[in-house]
Amino acid sequence: MSDLSRVRVCIVGGGFSGLAAAIELRRAGVNDLVILERAASVGGAWRDNTYPGCACDVKSRLYELRAAPWPDWSRTYSGQEEIRTYLERVVEIFGLDPYLRLETELISAQWDGERLVWNVQTSRGELLADVLISACGGLTEPLIPEIPGAGNFRGKMMHTARWDHDEDLAGKRVAVIGTGASAIQVIPALAPVVEQLIVCQRTPAWVLPRNDHPVSGRQRRLFERIPIWQALRRSAVSWMNEAQLLSFTKQGAFRALGERIARRHLRSQVSDPQLRSLLTPTYAMGCKRILVSDDYYPALMRPNVTVAPGLRSMTNSGVVTEDGVERPVDAVVWATGFAVLEPPLANRVTGRDGRLLADALRSTDYAAYRGTAIHGFPNLFILQGPNTGLGHSSVVLMSEAQIDHVIDALESGQILEVTEDSQLRYVKSIDQRLSTTVWQQGGCRSWYQNGNGRNVALWPGSTHAFARMMSRFDSSAYRVSYREDAHASQ
Ligand code: NAP
Repeated sequence: MSDLSRVRVCIVGGGFSGLAAAIELRRAGVNDLVILERAASVGGAWRDNTYPGCACDVKSRLYELRAAPWPDWSRTYSGQEEIRTYLERVVEIFGLDPYLRLETELISAQWDGERLVWNVQTSRGELLADVLISACGGLTEPLIPEIPGAGNFRGKMMHTARWDHDEDLAGKRVAVIGTGASAIQVIPALAPVVEQLIVCQRTPAWVLPRNDHPVSGRQRRLFERIPIWQALRRSAVSWMNEAQLLSFTKQGAFRALGERIARRHLRSQVSDPQLRSLLTPTYAMGCKRILVSDDYYPALMRPNVTVAPGLRSMTNSGVVTEDGVERPVDAVVWATGFAVLEPPLANRVTGRDGRLLADALRSTDYAAYRGTAIHGFPNLFILQGPNTGLGHSSVVLMSEAQIDHVIDALESGQILEVTEDSQLRYVKSIDQRLSTTVWQQGGCRSWYQNGNGRNVALWPGSTHAFARMMSRFDSSAYRVSYREDAHASQ
């Protein structure tokens, strides 16, 4: 990797955020950059999640890069393959190929306090980088719960995010563990093809109608010819999503309305009162991610589908649910989410004074300044870091706002480390805002919270408010310094 021996910016991850960072940095004049991607192609979550039924649950009009508005989405909510293809087209359109290092995994990175650079070891050699940007996403590492007896199970097991397409589940007895966003997409796709489907539900979800439909050729031509029309539609979707935020952050009417719509949806699709009661949440809507689906409830109504309690243990030939019933199955699908508290790079990045990122995150209860910078880690920026997730809109908007902040930071000085005081003050204000939201008060436990109950995942405001905050770069939050042998190759 000799040509890579020194770069100004090293981006880790070739998904939405990493590609967006490369595009925006180049637009800002920073061309001395490299994107490390451990897989053989770009796409991030949209490359890794290939389970049947995988699609976006945010409308595509908003789930795209601002640099690459796409007139051609075929549906209101695009499927996985289409989104992945879009990201590959983005690489072509913006000429990112020369910057991409595929099948190149970051093994470790240390801040070199003497040379004031990141010393990066990859699976294909070493490089030095002035700035390290983590664009690995928060929902990257599959989480499989430790279940007694799982090691004895002789059937097939796979996680939704690591689907094994060589395994044909048609005609088999399958258990799906979980009823989150991934589960409610895979269940309707599996139900018609498997012999028997056991859905292990620990907590029912609030489900709203999806109203997905194809975008007509005429509409797409209009979007292509009249970009302002496309921009207006995008803006309309954005504001409609933001309205949903009110039900998370304010009590009362908005949430009641949402719950009424979801109950009506359940009533209209599930005729069996016993099943209906099993599927009715007992916590406030929004506390866990609100799901959107038109085919989930009908799938559960099928005669070959059983909604069972959560998974307690496993035997060599089946699953044992919380009611003590053993249910023989040939395969288990883990729709159990991701290890959000252990970001992919946390155990690989060492900051100032030899501090491991994972330790810094743990000891501060996952604190980060504006979800992006962490005290003790100069010139490290984390896209989709702590408290930048959303329950109501597109996280692409959040990454882009963070990238604007990173560009401002790069323009403000050579070495930036957020001060401990700024980080503490920021996190305190976030926690205060979160304390009254449905995520903390709604009567549920979710992956948004860590072991101490702190919501480490979500931003408590609108995407517009986040973008506004990020556009006002506050250099006093950082200790800014300059190196003597300025590396000025941009
Ligand atoms: P998740 O929301 O964390 O759901 C995990 C599920 O596994 C929950 O229903 C959980 O139950 C269940 N579970 C865990 N252990 C269990 C056990 N022993 N028995 C039964 N159930 C068990 O994971 P996810 O569905 O993969 O979604 C994660 C996030 O990814 C989403 O919130 C969303 O942000 C993103 N996502 C997005 C899309 C999209 O369309 N854009 C699609 C999929 C995922 P409890 O609720 O009781 O804990």
